[in-house]
Amino acid sequence: MNEQTFKALVVEEMADKTFVRSIKDRSVSELPEGDVLVRVDFSSLNYKDALSAAGNKGVTRSYPHTPGIDAAGIVEESRDASFSQGDAVIVTSYDLGMNTPGGFGRFIRVPAGWVVKLPENLSLRESMIYGTAGFTAGLSVHEIVNHLKPDVGSVLVTGATGGVGSIAVGLLSKLGYDVTAVSGKPDAAAFLSNLGAETVVSREQALDESGRPLLKSVWAGVVDTVGGDMLATAVKSTQPGGTVTCCGNVASPNLSLTVFPFILRGVRLIGIDSQNCPMAHRAGIWQKLSAEWKLDCLEDLCREISLTELSPMIDKILKGGIQGRTLVNLEGSVA
Ligand code: NDP
Repeated sequence: MNEQTFKALVVEEMADKTFVRSIKDRSVSELPEGDVLVRVDFSSLNYKDALSAAGNKGVTRSYPHTPGIDAAGIVEESRDASFSQGDAVIVTSYDLGMNTPGGFGRFIRVPAGWVVKLPENLSLRESMIYGTAGFTAGLSVHEIVNHLKPDVGSVLVTGATGGVGSIAVGLLSKLGYDVTAVSGKPDAAAFLSNLGAETVVSREQALDESGRPLLKSVWAGVVDTVGGDMLATAVKSTQPGGTVTCCGNVASPNLSLTVFPFILRGVRLIGIDSQNCPMAHRAGIWQKLSAEWKLDCLEDLCREISLTELSPMIDKILKGGIQGRTLVNLEGSVA
């Protein structure tokens, strides 16, 4: 296999500190050491991939580099007894696509501890329509389900047309929750209603600028994907005993709050970390996404692109301009 060559998106750092993306031929022999060699059939585009592809050194320390925190495909070789040639697998998170060559190349080689067997009722394609965004939505919804019954009131989802947000809207609605979706896209209402949102509000409606430490309590729960003032407003507006999950920072990493929502209303703020999620919990969430939580509308949520179409989509996701998920099909990407 080591002589096998393949296509990959490669990001290079230029002498003037700019970053250039191109599709290059790579060889399996250039991949890092690892237990499992996977032929990647599908990947997907996440916000973090765009940060890596744009030269964000907080995500990727050194270049040239192939991003792609998501990959689903077939095991070609395994030194670990848990996996055999021909197994269909999902690899997401850990260091994939950050400082380890990722799913925007036709082959990856990774430690066995990063690999999840594809659940029975999920295709490789479906697993990457979910991807890390869907898995993160699953982790967030798991916390809501653990703490709140569907009849306690509306659950707010911020960044609702994005990858994490759109799947969270779909999952919550499927599980019987009343969902209020926040979106900055003026024409998002039909997309979000089709996913099951009862109400769609604008970002302006979901942002309080009064600076008051507590606001009228409205939300039973919140799945926040954007951080910053939107998350602060949501926490201040959460009902007593409510649950708020926090996974993202596209609006801002800063959070300006007092302790009052927590000590006067018992609001829970739960951090979501998909990257280091323990394997047993990870496999359990994938299992749910493939079975009782499986969305009927997965295909409606995604657009499919090839490696050569990735670069403009990377620019678009950095501007918050993407609706739903972007599936990357690598099946034709052999050099
Ligand atoms: P997307 O780009 O697909 O979606 C983000 C959405 O947020 C946008 O579509 C937009 O939705 C909204 N948005 C964008 N900019 C702003 C802004 N300035 N203010 C308010 N809303 C904004 O990203 P993902 O869904 O893939 O990821 C969302 C976040 O979650 C990212 O920060 C990502 O890094 C993080 N993440 C974290 C993980 C973890 O393990 N903690 C794992 C996966 C993702 P709309 O137009 O509808 O408002």
